Amino acid sequence: MHLIQTINDVNECFVSQQNHFLSKPYKSYEDRINDLKKLKKLLLDNQDAFIEALNKDFGSRSADDTKIGDIITTISGINYTMKNLKSWMKPKKRKVDLLFQPAKASILFQPLGVVGVVVPWNYPVFLSLGPLATALAAGNCVMLKMSEFTPATATLLAGLINSVFTKKQIAIVGGEVDIATAFTSLAFDHLFFTGSTNVGKIVMQAAAKNLVPVTLELGGKSPAIIDDKIDIKLAVSRFILGKVLNSGQTCVAPDYIFCPEEKVAELVDELQKVYSKMYPKVANNKDCTSIINNAQFERLNGLLDDARSLGANVIPLTVETIDKTERKMPLTVLTDVNDDMKVMQQEIFGPIIPILTYKNTTEAIHYINKNDRPLALYIYSFDKKFQQDILLNTHAGGVCINEATFHVANDDLPFGGVGSSGMGQYHGEEGFKTFSHGKSILEKGKISFAHLLFPPFGGLMHKLVYKLFIR
Ligand code: NAD
Repeated sequence: MHLIQTINDVNECFVSQQNHFLSKPYKSYEDRINDLKKLKKLLLDNQDAFIEALNKDFGSRSADDTKIGDIITTISGINYTMKNLKSWMKPKKRKVDLLFQPAKASILFQPLGVVGVVVPWNYPVFLSLGPLATALAAGNCVMLKMSEFTPATATLLAGLINSVFTKKQIAIVGGEVDIATAFTSLAFDHLFFTGSTNVGKIVMQAAAKNLVPVTLELGGKSPAIIDDKIDIKLAVSRFILGKVLNSGQTCVAPDYIFCPEEKVAELVDELQKVYSKMYPKVANNKDCTSIINNAQFERLNGLLDDARSLGANVIPLTVETIDKTERKMPLTVLTDVNDDMKVMQQEIFGPIIPILTYKNTTEAIHYINKNDRPLALYIYSFDKKFQQDILLNTHAGGVCINEATFHVANDDLPFGGVGSSGMGQYHGEEGFKTFSHGKSILEKGKISFAHLLFPPFGGLMHKLVYKLFIR
């Protein structure tokens, strides 16, 4: 059994990874590329097994949701990393101040050591192998803690990874929250957590006890703002995939829409048309991913009941009897929504989309700014002034203009939240830097003028230096 499932084994594995890392603290470019090639091959050769494991974990996970959300994204990230690694690894030259000449200044990117990665359930391949690939590229050993809700994917991953890598280099940890708690209290050289904002707070506290640096990739309510001049058909065609992929169980899925009041009826109508073409029905539809478990299914239905009871208009986009055992939900639009409703107080993370109305840009900006800073923000407009107004006056981890969610998969863009949607970034060169220590080096050769500043002070040279440099 490759999957680590006891606290004892977690602790032992950590020590063995620390020792292994110290046996060769700096891995060559060739070794790192070799690791990435092995990782890529493992994923390419076992796509069907991953599709099957995810299907088991979700009850029903659309094979295409897995290909789009988990496989393409991961492979593309590995390819991009392999292409750029040599230039990322090169020490970067910096300037030397006149006072310290002659000398050389540079930054050496050094592996951190043993890195912990905590993975959520929604895209368990992309969100485990993505950070893993970057951490390996930076030359680290990695322990990955998979979510308790994706045991089939965790078991498959452990078997495959440990058929080509030793546990001293990469270990996959499964188990429940007790294991996650033990895992996040280890004195890692870096802890990379993807998950909810609430658990993120617990994880950061645990890490603080050992002064472990953290990257927190969290969630939040990501708004989509439609301006009053854009064609509604076009706007819907640009954001709908981001909302329906994985049945909305996506950290960067549009959470709610801001729409000019006079366009709401047209928006609902267009959503209905497009959605029913994509999913004529959700029952028994293999293209529609199930809600991961009963707790999440109940939570989402609870949000609908609460909104309905407080006066919202609840519009499911396919009308059919929902089979609770299958846990498939149609995209459901909510209008007449207000902040007293639970659906506006928590991240939705499912196939529900409330529509809020606004009269002017300032009103929308004010609403976004009075709430927690979102992970993503989407603008649907070709009006540069409207785009700039929103871009410059709101905060969000990342933005798409006339698109949704794809910024995450654009490898050269860093990805991460701001405020309660997270801290730190990965993807792109920023990811490599997250998993490296940029060590500053000032190198002197045979010539040095430092002795000119030696005491006793008060000489001519001191006076000259002070005159030249203190001004
Ligand atoms: P979660 O926070 O419940 O769990 C995430 C991970 O933390 C799991 O592996 C879990 O085992 C572990 N965990 C749970 N309790 C813990 C504890 N007390 N101490 C240490 N670890 C603990 O999140 P989830 O339900 O798996 O995922 C959904 C959330 O993740 C959403 O909020 C979503 O927005 C967010 N998310 C963010 C990103 C991103 O890249 N920013 C990506 C995907 C999901």
